[in-house]
Amino acid sequence: MDFKTMLHRFTVIPSLTPELSRLQKIATNLWWTWEPEARELFKRIDLELWHTVRHNPVEMLGTLQQATLDSLAADEGFMSTLEQVDEKLQAYLSGTTWFEKMHGKDHQLSTAYFSMEFGFHESLPIYSGGLGILSGDHLKSASDLGIPLVGVGLLYRQGYFRQYLNIEGWQQEYYPENDFYNLPLHLERDENRVPLTVEVDLPGRKLKAHIWRVQVGRIPLYLLDTNLEENSPEDREITAQLYGGDQEMRIRQEILLGIGGVRALRLLGIIPNVCHMNEGHSAFLGLERIRLMMAKFKVSFNEALEAVRAGTVFTTHTPVEAGIDHFHPDLLEKYLGKYYRSIGMSKDEFLGLGRQNPANHHESFCMAVLALKLAAHANGVSELHGEVSRQMWKNLWPELPEEHLPLSSITNGVHAKTWLSHDMAGLLTRYLGNRWLEEPTNQGVWRRMSKIPDAELWRIHERCRERLVGFARERLKAQLAQVGATPKEIEAADEVLDPETLTIGFARRFATYKRGTLLLRDPERLARILNNSERPVQIIFAGKAHPHDTEGKELIRQIVQFSKQEPFRHKIVFIEDYDMSVARHLVQGVDVWLNTPRRPLEASGTSGMKVAFNGGLNMSILDGWWCEGYHGNNGWAIGKGEVYSDIEYQNEVEGRAIYDLLEKEVVPLFYDRGGDSMPRGWISWMKNSMMSLCPVFSTDRMVQEYADRFYTHSYSHWKKLAEDDLKLASDLSKWKANIRSIWHKIRIDGIESNGTDEVASGSKIMASARIFLGDLTLNEIAVDAYFGVLDSRGNIVGGELIPLTKAEDLGGGTYRFQGELECRFCGRHGFLVRIMPSHPELGPIYEPGLLRWG
Ligand SMILES: *Cc1c(COP(=O)(O)O)cnc(C)c1O
Repeated sequence: MDFKTMLHRFTVIPSLTPELSRLQKIATNLWWTWEPEARELFKRIDLELWHTVRHNPVEMLGTLQQATLDSLAADEGFMSTLEQVDEKLQAYLSGTTWFEKMHGKDHQLSTAYFSMEFGFHESLPIYSGGLGILSGDHLKSASDLGIPLVGVGLLYRQGYFRQYLNIEGWQQEYYPENDFYNLPLHLERDENRVPLTVEVDLPGRKLKAHIWRVQVGRIPLYLLDTNLEENSPEDREITAQLYGGDQEMRIRQEILLGIGGVRALRLLGIIPNVCHMNEGHSAFLGLERIRLMMAKFKVSFNEALEAVRAGTVFTTHTPVEAGIDHFHPDLLEKYLGKYYRSIGMSKDEFLGLGRQNPANHHESFCMAVLALKLAAHANGVSELHGEVSRQMWKNLWPELPEEHLPLSSITNGVHAKTWLSHDMAGLLTRYLGNRWLEEPTNQGVWRRMSKIPDAELWRIHERCRERLVGFARERLKAQLAQVGATPKEIEAADEVLDPETLTIGFARRFATYKRGTLLLRDPERLARILNNSERPVQIIFAGKAHPHDTEGKELIRQIVQFSKQEPFRHKIVFIEDYDMSVARHLVQGVDVWLNTPRRPLEASGTSGMKVAFNGGLNMSILDGWWCEGYHGNNGWAIGKGEVYSDIEYQNEVEGRAIYDLLEKEVVPLFYDRGGDSMPRGWISWMKNSMMSLCPVFSTDRMVQEYADRFYTHSYSHWKKLAEDDLKLASDLSKWKANIRSIWHKIRIDGIESNGTDEVASGSKIMASARIFLGDLTLNEIAVDAYFGVLDSRGNIVGGELIPLTKAEDLGGGTYRFQGELECRFCGRHGFLVRIMPSHPELGPIYEPGLLRWG
């Protein structure tokens, strides 16, 4: 008998009185995760239960006994706090926002932000690490700033794995099931209460998915779930695990996210004008938007592409090609063959969209290439990563000098209120007022940090360190109990670490390039540093290795082995199961945050920013964000940003540099105490660090940049192209096709300048070019001189573009163009002449293949 089909299902929800139902409202808006007063409210109900349910208020409310509910309702203090928090939430949701002030209340921007993972809080485990936390922080700041934005992602039944270590220190993984009915999730239904169902095609079948909403302050996030009875058992697994499974699983997930995501929004009545792809996983969304436009406006692929590209933003996070999804052409044929044919594409055209060189049939299909071709705005996540990305992808724009590639950078940030300790947030409000919240990027506001009395800042920091030590001991005891340690061994965990000792934190994914064991290279020297009786040091580690990464697991094992050996036994601790909760304790309590990636493999890194907000100091290789953050007196740089080819040699040099820094600078500064036992020098560095880093490395600054530089521009451009049934997009596409067919005839016949070989600095020279237009007309081209100082290899570096204008009709379709170049710097100069097509309404347009240098 099939009991499953007979099973009648229903959902039980807590029965709360109208007054207490406010708790439910607060629990189902993730606003509580960054609002300390809301968190306190839940803790106050039952602290032990709060920890047992992994800080999940929805589950907690469902577990409460009637007697507890009654006593809460009778507790006047509690009820009045509840009312205040509820009012604060209402005020938050209805207040005037930064976006309204800057861009107007009636701005028609409608952004959809797509990401494979979102990290908001440990109680909603649908993230693995940096990328997910960034998406979560992006949505939180978008809510604070009032950006018109919705999120789109997948709802994983198991999420990312949980970690524990066996007695040897070897990582074990387990995958607890998420119970959607005990999470802040709302199933989206139609007017007849029937769940909305998205459909996408997979080979020989339709895949169906439900849509769950998570409310993140003002921002809704829609998550797709394929665990439905209508799907085959295999297809129900598509949203089982984050980054689990093989290439086929990955392409199914990406089809669901990209194509299914756009369809889900349509079912909800949302048609975004700007789509932001956080990493290339969601890049198929561009194809679906094009398909929908083709059907609606009866236009060609290329016509629709013009509008869609204008309305698309792509953020790349990966500095190595191997880290990016590549699919074999056969896999694409199997999964998307029918799809691309339905939009009138040939196989070559389609596969070409994912290739740097479309004609190269040996290239596999790369999701980042697809994303770059479908997005008018693209960026890396730090200045250095922007440069690295331009190097990686420069072949996509073969005619452009590197500094002109349409791939810039917006440096990552963190959502301050999520990561700040309650105490530190209170201190900031006491001394900076609410302005640090209202104008988080105002340097002037943060400069007032200098007014905070050293003693207060230090006391708060010490309290957070104590809390971290207490937390580490508790976790250690639980870990020991798990692997069957004796009561005596468990009790001994109270001896590890010391609340007053200089504490270094190192927590991140255990990927080999992050070199988690660099600090352990010279055990004797390390032992001397840690065990100095006057000036001791201790280290707390945490982090997961990818389940298939044996090398990463080996690094963890080594650390655990170290932590059990005598000279390190109470000084080195590994906390299992790194998640946002462990991360919060660490970043709030450490004195120094150590980061040792191999440059330039850390695209940005964000954990060090979380530390900075809490007054900790960074000590890091100059890579990712730290190249921009480090100013000499706000933390430490390991090395000077060198790049090595010999890894072993690099480890030797940089390992030694860490010990040198610790011995000569970090430890002495920390233990240089005055009569009042306060480290004045250290505290002044804490203030330097907070003043210089807090206004810059927040997601408030980051999301403002996305809004000002990308979203609003993307929207205007999209609107121009898409209005009147895609009129301008169609014109543009046809115009480009025409230009393409006649471009080969255009020629630069000669270039002259009136300068002699030596000209005085500050003087002007006249540059001119004779150009044969062929079949183009004068107003269809833009001619510029690309002008600047030459490097030793004769290349122009950091050149500027000076327009050349028509000066003379030489007859027979040839014209002379000229312009004035001002020699502002000394040294060897040069110029090139460049011709680009120029659209009558849109101005100069770059298209690969349609650009002529002379
Ligand atoms: C912040 C954070 C990360 C990302 O840290 P990186 O600096 O990018 O290594 C990863 N995991 C968790 C749990 C975090 O809180």
